[in-house]
Formats: sequence, structure tokens, C-alpha cells
Amino acid sequence: MAGWTVICERCGAEQRLGNASWRCPRCGAAWALRGPDRLDPASLDPTERTLWRYEQVLPVPRSEAISLGEGMTPLIPGKLSGHPVWLKLDFLLPTGSFKDRGAAILVSHLCRLGYRRLVVDSSGNAAAALAAYCAAGGLACHVFAPATTSPAKLAQVRAYGAQVTLVEGSREQVAAAAQRAAAADPVAAYASHNWHPVFVEGTKTWLLEVWEQLGGRFPAACFLPVGGGSLLIGAWRARQALPGPHPALVAAQPLACAPVVEAFERGDADVPPITPSTTLAEGARIAAPPRGQQMLGAIRGSGGWAEAIDEDLLVDTLRQLWRQGLYVEPTAALGAAAFRQALERGRPMPEGEVVIVVTGSGLKAGDLALE
Ligand SMILES: [Zn+2]
Repeated sequence: MAGWTVICERCGAEQRLGNASWRCPRCGAAWALRGPDRLDPASLDPTERTLWRYEQVLPVPRSEAISLGEGMTPLIPGKLSGHPVWLKLDFLLPTGSFKDRGAAILVSHLCRLGYRRLVVDSSGNAAAALAAYCAAGGLACHVFAPATTSPAKLAQVRAYGAQVTLVEGSREQVAAAAQRAAAADPVAAYASHNWHPVFVEGTKTWLLEVWEQLGGRFPAACFLPVGGGSLLIGAWRARQALPGPHPALVAAQPLACAPVVEAFERGDADVPPITPSTTLAEGARIAAPPRGQQMLGAIRGSGGWAEAIDEDLLVDTLRQLWRQGLYVEPTAALGAAAFRQALERGRPMPEGEVVIVVTGSGLKAGDLALE
């Protein structure tokens, strides 16, 4: 962790990375991570096929990795509305979602600091990912989930041996219950995928892989699902690791819960909370994302934009992906839907290759496919 610090996105407070602090103690805003972030491609070990090949720009050394072989997911050619695109298949990671990238690094980091019990709040892919890596590392995992969470999703979490506590109330009340439980236990840490800056350092590896898979260059644009923002902020961190030209980052949210799109279009500096309605893209239903400033900074700084996707376009795009052999969950279709919408609305597109990140497996969402 030498050379790694966390800096508050709102008030600028800074401290060394080396404790379980998950947000700024002064103002309560999200941390951003600062550290060695220039990747020397010549340093990459060709025999290491996991994301730990990027250890030069990760806050945990490969020798202390808790790993399930995550990383280097396929990048395949596909078609959307007749246009060629690249599809990055992150739903093929060990637990079935891109969250494994963040979970591998975060669980390894907290284990290295001496924590033996992680407390998590999530109703979906993040809980599964963190529970799996805790199981792999021999750590206990306690998941707080909304009482409305579907039993199918909790089955995977329980299979990994995690303890599950169901909480009545809003998503924010679930998070508060997890934070209280972690604070009351000296060997426990709050391992939040929405708050912890180390989680993002894992998610950035998807774009480093794309850079290699395209033969040592970035695409012109990337379209990604955005809820808590770890994929997006990770992409911004990956841009800093390698020379450009760099891609425009396009954030896709369900119209029913699009606080980032709304804030981007208003020109706001941060993302105020909204009241969401229902959407099939439940993985992106985050009404009060903690890392609003970092998300807006990544979209604007990259020359990207944001698209809000209605349910009809989402379902139609989901079918297009299924009919290409990609059985993914609804949230995972947001990036592809945003690309189609941008084409249909005639939005000026950067010249060059387009990468769509496909984030979560449909195998966990069979009930939605039946509907
Ligand atoms: Zn602060």
C-alpha cells in the first residue's frame, strides 16, 4: 500500500490507505484513491492471465491475492442495430458479474489489513461476489439485504456460506444497518462496493484488458451500465494508466432511476438523490449514489455523455443480446441499449471502435426471463 492515499471528493481531506475507512470522516463524502497509476505494458507477465497481471497499478500485491482466476474475459465482435461493436463479456467472471473484479481486490485488501469478518449491504451481484471471495479467503461474510430480495439471489450468497440478515425499509436503511453492525465489531470491516475506493481499483481492470485485447489501444467510445458507478469510475482510472487517445465514456441508466443522467444534463457538480420507480434493470436502481462527483467527472472529463433507457428499449435490446447467444440479465443490456438509442437519436459519435460492457449473467435472473 506504499504510496497509496485516499482523498475526499468533496472537501479534499487526505489520508494514507491502510485502515478500514470507507468515507471521509470530516464531511462524510466518498473517498477517491490516489496511487501508482501509470502502467508500463512491458512489465506485464504474459503467463499471468488473471487481473493480477496489473499488480503494478493495484493496491494489493499479487502475492497476497485471494483469487478465483478472475479477469481477461472475452472481447468478441457483435452487432447492434446492424452496427459492428465489441462486446466485453464480464458476465463470465467467477460469480457471474463484473463485481468480481472489485470484490477480489477489496477482500484481499481488507484481509491483508487483518479483518476476518466483512459486512456487506447488497441485494444482488455485489453480495454474491463479496461472499464468494470471503469464502475463498476463509473470511466470514455478513450480508444485509432488503426484505424484498428475491430468494433466488440469496441462494447464491448463502451457498458461499455467508450469513444473511433481511432488513425492512429502504435501500439506505439496509446500508445503515450494515454500517452499524460493522462499527460494533472490532474484527469486522464494512466492505461496501458503493463506498469503498479499493473496490473501484479492481473494476478498472476491464478497460486495461480491452486495451490489450485491441492490440495496445483504447476504443473510441465505451457504453456502460451505471448504478453505483464503479465500472464508470474504474474506466476513468484505467484511462489514466495508459497513453491515449482515450475513449469517451457513456453512462447508461434505466429511465426509472436515472439520477446521474439528470444531474449530467442539468450541469450539476454532484448527483442529488431521486425517488426511483420500478425497472427490470434492478442492478442500476441506486437512487442516491455516493460517488456522484467522481461519476460526473469521469463522464465530462472523457468527452462522454449519459443516456436514460426506457423499459421497452431495454427489453428489446435484451432480446437482441439473447439472440446472439448472450444470456445476460436486464441490467447488463443497458450499455447496448444506450448505443442503440444514441444511434437512433443521431447523436454525434466518436469515430472508431465501440466497446459495450455486458455486466451480469442471466442465469441468476431466470424468473425475469420467464416474465
Ligand atoms: Zn470530506
